[in-house]
Amino acid sequence: MKHIPELPEITIIAKQMNKEITGKKIADIEVKQPKNLNMPVPAFAKIVKGKTVIGVSSHGKWLFIKLSSNYFMLVNLGMGAELLYFAKAQKLPEKYHFKLAFSDGTGFTAHFWWFGYIHLAKENELPKHKMTAQLGKPATDKTFTLAYFRELLAGKKTGIKTFLLDQKNLAGIGNVYAQDILFKAKLHPNRKISTLSEKETTNLYHAVRDVLNHSIKLKGLAYERDFYGQKGKFAIDNFLVGYKTGKPCPECGTAIEKIKTGSTSSYICSKCQTLT
Ligand SMILES: [Zn+2]
Repeated sequence: MKHIPELPEITIIAKQMNKEITGKKIADIEVKQPKNLNMPVPAFAKIVKGKTVIGVSSHGKWLFIKLSSNYFMLVNLGMGAELLYFAKAQKLPEKYHFKLAFSDGTGFTAHFWWFGYIHLAKENELPKHKMTAQLGKPATDKTFTLAYFRELLAGKKTGIKTFLLDQKNLAGIGNVYAQDILFKAKLHPNRKISTLSEKETTNLYHAVRDVLNHSIKLKGLAYERDFYGQKGKFAIDNFLVGYKTGKPCPECGTAIEKIKTGSTSSYICSKCQTLT
């Protein structure tokens, strides 16, 4: 199962990186796929070499590695990628597209399966970095309150799933966690936002937070590896309806269906998640 890591997986990697690489000095980089960068390799190398990692955080599906001199290395893993730490003298993964080595001999490699970005931007250039500047609040953020969520939904005319997947609304939800979020909120993916009752909006808000935080507790998806190569514990059995075509709905026993919703597939219980 190849998919794009979502908020839980990226949150976990960011925490691990922050603990492991903060304070380390960048000695060298190796780039095998220059298209992942937002500038020519020599320019990129010149900027990062000798810089120190100040800290690592995440925003939705993006990692923000803060470097000295107010630079940020922005990393998006895309689909099926792996970002792996290596200890001093540890054997590197067979395949990787990017390697960053610190002066103490440790470092990390990135292997991209589909697309992926490793961009550099100065702090004052971040508002111009379109891919990250337009991101909405992360749904697990303290400031992502029910009142804020209501404001966000006000006046929106799309279907609720389209809204949830648009990173400009809220950052970090993709097609994996959207499934159980909508099921928990008892909403059909195509329900129009304008038709949601106050109670449904409240339920949806809590479903978003509950599903993402539950996965963070389980260390993310069982199909994704963290910074140390460990797999998460959120497996198929942990999904309520996601990827469970034909299995009984945990609420009412109706067989779960896989339906096409726009450009994505949705797993729903047609009895619990009606369109009206
Ligand atoms: Zn059901």
